[in-house]
Amino acid sequence: MTVHTPWLEDLVDALTRVTGPGPVSLHAPEFTGNEWTYLKDCLDSTFVSSVGQYVDQFEAELAKLTGAKYAVAVVNGTAALHVALELSGVQRNDEVLVPTLTFVATANAVKYCGATPHFVDCETSTLGMDVERLRMHLKRISEIRDGQCVNKQTGQVIRAIVPMHTFGHPSDLEGLVKLTHDFKLVLIEDAAEALGSVYQGTHVGVFGRFGVLSFNGNKTITTGGGGALLTNDERLAKRAKHLTTTAKRAHPWEYFHDEVGYNYRMPNINAALGCAQLEQLPKMLQEKRNLYERYKKSVGKLTGVTLLKEPEGCRSNYWLQTLMLNGVHQDQLTAALEFTNAKGLMTRPAWNLLHTLPSYTHAPRMDLYCAQDLVQRMFNIPSSAALGRVL
Ligand SMILES: *Cc1c(COP(=O)(O)O)cnc(C)c1O
Repeated sequence: MTVHTPWLEDLVDALTRVTGPGPVSLHAPEFTGNEWTYLKDCLDSTFVSSVGQYVDQFEAELAKLTGAKYAVAVVNGTAALHVALELSGVQRNDEVLVPTLTFVATANAVKYCGATPHFVDCETSTLGMDVERLRMHLKRISEIRDGQCVNKQTGQVIRAIVPMHTFGHPSDLEGLVKLTHDFKLVLIEDAAEALGSVYQGTHVGVFGRFGVLSFNGNKTITTGGGGALLTNDERLAKRAKHLTTTAKRAHPWEYFHDEVGYNYRMPNINAALGCAQLEQLPKMLQEKRNLYERYKKSVGKLTGVTLLKEPEGCRSNYWLQTLMLNGVHQDQLTAALEFTNAKGLMTRPAWNLLHTLPSYTHAPRMDLYCAQDLVQRMFNIPSSAALGRVL
């Protein structure tokens, strides 16, 4: 039974002033540009699969947009993470630092390499890794041996760190780059949610050895399913392309695969969609900012509810708008979710923290109290770019 309380009526009023009446989805893709044109062209050419110009074009445009020297398009963001970790030297029995507050793919990709996620807490302003507390944790539990960071408690090498830019808000990249250097870790950014997000003037995803993007249907732009690796290293870019295309040596007819590769390449038809979607990105980013401003005006008046703002010095893509309950309403997440969804406004809580999932309950971790507190108080509200169209 839904409990009707005045503050929830006020919340729904404030939200619907922005979204209009329900049903309103959390994040709807839209195809208002050249999607039909490029898809038709792709079908007419019959090159819908592993051959065709759109993949090259999509990769070139992603590189240009992000400032990465190279982009390699793949089937989805999870596959991109997997390959990024493998090419960063993550091996069986290594540990990889990942946030507990993230989509399950971040940790699963570590598992695909036979390694173990080591869970890191977040901080409130960015929802990204708490670098200072992580540093204290590493000082306590690890030591550098032969240029490698070894977990003294497990005896395993902590090889890499995969911060995630939550809901599009850039993490503390300056702190992360420094930490990575001090503790001899490889930095891989999970920028799956952050296409278009900028940290101190630089697009996210290019601060470490690899950045990873996703073009799943719920992301800012979509290729149906898709992902990409970003890197500034030519050798690694070539390795990534090779490994994601079954490690087949280029030859007019011979099938010679020089290692065990993956069939992870993005099909041309998905890339065609991606090229059209990328053209719409600047407009969508502006609309998503407008949406933030509109929510700020309406929700900003409520007590016990805060709208999450982009971190200082950053430009967030505002992929998903986030509300934080506090003070008198801090224990009322379930009521808020029930009430808003009953009114046709699609709202969703954050993920179950990964260290609470069956696969990861025994994984090493630091104290995760901040994430544990936040997931009990935060949820995402309708965030489609279209909702920001009229200001
Ligand atoms: C979407 C997402 C991914 C990748 O998802 P795919 O569906 O495999 O493209 C990875 N990490 C995070 C944090 C994500 O949100």
